Amino acid sequence: MTDPSAPQDAALRPKTLAEYVGQEALKSKLGVYLQAARGRREALDHTLLFGPPGLGKTTLAYIIAYELGVNIRTTSGPAIEKPGDLAAILTNSLEEGDVLFIDEIHRLGRVAEEHLYPAMEDFKLDIVLGQGPAARTIELGLPRFTLVGATTRPGLMTAPMRSRFGIIEHLEYYTPQEIAQNLQRDARLLGFSIEEDAALEIGGRSRGTMRIAKRLLRRVRDYAEVAGEETVSPERARDALDRLGLDSAGLDDRDKKYLETLIHRFAGGPVGVDTLATAISEDALTLEDVYEPFLIQLGFIKRTPRGRVATARAYDHLGLPPGNDLGL
Ligand code: ADP
Repeated sequence: MTDPSAPQDAALRPKTLAEYVGQEALKSKLGVYLQAARGRREALDHTLLFGPPGLGKTTLAYIIAYELGVNIRTTSGPAIEKPGDLAAILTNSLEEGDVLFIDEIHRLGRVAEEHLYPAMEDFKLDIVLGQGPAARTIELGLPRFTLVGATTRPGLMTAPMRSRFGIIEHLEYYTPQEIAQNLQRDARLLGFSIEEDAALEIGGRSRGTMRIAKRLLRRVRDYAEVAGEETVSPERARDALDRLGLDSAGLDDRDKKYLETLIHRFAGGPVGVDTLATAISEDALTLEDVYEPFLIQLGFIKRTPRGRVATARAYDHLGLPPGNDLGL
């Protein structure tokens, strides 16, 4: 996903696998697949990337195209409503070996999805001409392309769709060190400097997410500039992040509201996600996609068959005595 608040983002986007920070296991596998595809002068197998938003799926799709020396076309699941939309993308300007990136691929409509199967498998597209009894189908050959799909919700994809990807990889949250490394590079490219401990401070409060870290870096830089500081110091970073309402674990006001509601209104759970979502005026999908993966990663909540439960660690983080947390 692109971040509209960051026009300079494209310039900062790493172009090569070597510049892409972290995700070491994924990078080493992908490096081999890319080298093999280049050696055989073939298109890379269709690749599915999944993981929470802002971890670098889109960036990786661009890197794949760059490393293969091919063009990339991008679209998203919701943008492909009719089979005709798909036909337009596949038949216009896709060349041999090119990458077609479909973001939010789990939101592709069922009919478009079924048209995509033969395109992925046999590089063919069936197009229906005319309507009613006079309708006829023609088969169109396509260049061999690589579909790179990105999703935050692989569970919502159909099994036949998933099975058509030869490479399926999960992106992990970044460590504060990895984020700090990337922020120092960004700062250099943007023409300012930041002390390593200041970058680490941002790294530790970014929910392990590169997109959030980059946004926080811009805000912290604002504070430093206004204070006339040439190099961002750890104190400045800490102060700016506090003012932005981020606590030591990187929880923002909405995360805290989630935890406090779970603990105070529902006695720490278990409570169903829909009930919880209503109580904090959010939709359940946002809770599941954005808030919860990070709270689970921190060990603050658990998803149980009976609903969400706050752990002892969450009580401790909020400075509350251990509550009805069922010993989890
Ligand atoms: P996603 O598609 O998973 O939502 P993006 O690829 O749009 O995430 O990444 C969000 C931002 O973070 C982009 O500006 C991107 O350049 C940057 N970014 C993500 N992962 C990395 C990484 N591993 N190294 C450097 N920059 C990254």
